[in-house]
Parts: sequence; structure tokens; C-alpha cells
Amino acid sequence: MLFDSEKYLELRLALGPDVTLVPVSKTKPAPAILEAYELGVRDFGENYVQELREKQPMLPQDIRWHFIGHLQSNKVKYLAPFIYMIQSVDSSTLLVEINKQARKCQRQIKVLLQVHVAQEETKFGWNSQELLDYLKEEEWKTLSNISIEGVMGMASFVEDPIQIKAEFDQIYQCFRQLNEEVFNERPMTIVSMGMSGDWALAIESGSNLIRVGSALFGSRN
Ligand SMILES: *Cc1c(COP(=O)(O)O)cnc(C)c1O
Repeated sequence: MLFDSEKYLELRLALGPDVTLVPVSKTKPAPAILEAYELGVRDFGENYVQELREKQPMLPQDIRWHFIGHLQSNKVKYLAPFIYMIQSVDSSTLLVEINKQARKCQRQIKVLLQVHVAQEETKFGWNSQELLDYLKEEEWKTLSNISIEGVMGMASFVEDPIQIKAEFDQIYQCFRQLNEEVFNERPMTIVSMGMSGDWALAIESGSNLIRVGSALFGSRN
């Protein structure tokens, strides 16, 4: 068993219709992804450009691939022809490059803005104020081949549920503030937060998209 279908169905049911569940298939081989696909899963999350470029051609073409890892601008061109959503947009340079490559492919690519709230420096993303300042400059309004759908964020890698919850609340707060102050004409709708270990806390804080890897595909090496 490469994909825990029982757990998937149980989780899918518990989440209800308003929460998107994106199984994270990074490091997992194509047959594992196909097992999930056969259950009806169409959204998958991946972190590594090279790995995704290798897997994508051999898997069904109606899969909606979500890129969730740190993305260097010079790699965007490899994803632009097929990527469904880039959740990990952490700079204006990257946003502009996604728009440029999407235009070359005559596509519109959905993006989420990655908000950094965790204490670890290793995690990427904008802090809320930087993001607000940048969006108020309105450069994004000129980027017609991207569609900003929401925010994505991660909590610190700690045990303390109170800290994790507080960080998810901060991400949600940022989402609300951006909708009030920037996107009031066409509000963003997606709040992507929560993984195998903390998705329940994320949902309590307002998440409507969770990215679950090891709980469904087993642990990674
Ligand atoms: C790997 C990863 C996940 C999934 O993590 P699990 O703990 O295996 O569920 C979710 N989001 C991001 C950004 C990741 O890199």
C-alpha cells in the first residue's frame, strides 16, 4: 500500500466540502500517486522542480499540480506550461517572473502569497507588513497572467499547540487584512495552512486548504 486510502477517505469526510485536501506527493513515486488518483484525488502538492518535471509527463494530464516548495525565479519556466497553482510565492521578483512565463505559455497561473510567521529563519515568505506594503504599490495589478487566490503559511516546527495556533491565527489575520485593504474589489478566497501534524489546529484558525504528506503517503526518507 503506497497511499493510505482509508485514512484519506476518513480525512476527506471529516473535512467537509469547504476544505480542499491536497495530498503532498514529494519524494513519492508515480505508482503511489496513481493509487490516490484512482480514488478520485486530482490535486497533488510537490516541492522540487526537477522531481515534478520528471513525474508530470508520466501521470494523468488532468492532475492539478500545486507547487509548495521554495521556487527560484530561473526555474519558473519549467513549471509554467502545466502548473495549476504556485502556493509558495515569496517575493515580487518571483511574482513578476511567474507572470512573464505564464504569458509565454498563454496561460493564467493561480498563486498564493507565502506569509512567514514561524520562528525558523529557514522558512521562506514575506512578513505581513512587507506584503501589505508591496501590494499597496499595485504592481500586481499589471500582472495579468497570474491570479492571486490567497495566502499560504506554515507554523513553527514545535510541539506547543498554543504557539502553533497563534501562528495560524496570524496568517489568517494577514489574509483578512489584505482582503480589507488591498483586494476589496475581488477578495482572495484561499487560506492554505496545515500539514499532517497540525491540520486540525489550522482548520480552527480558518484554513480551507490543507497540504498533507506523510499522514497519507507514509513517512519520507
Ligand atoms: C512537505 C510539506 C508538506 C507536507 O508535510 P507532512 O508533514 O508530510 O504532511 C506540507 N507543506 C509543505 C510546504 C511541505 O513542504
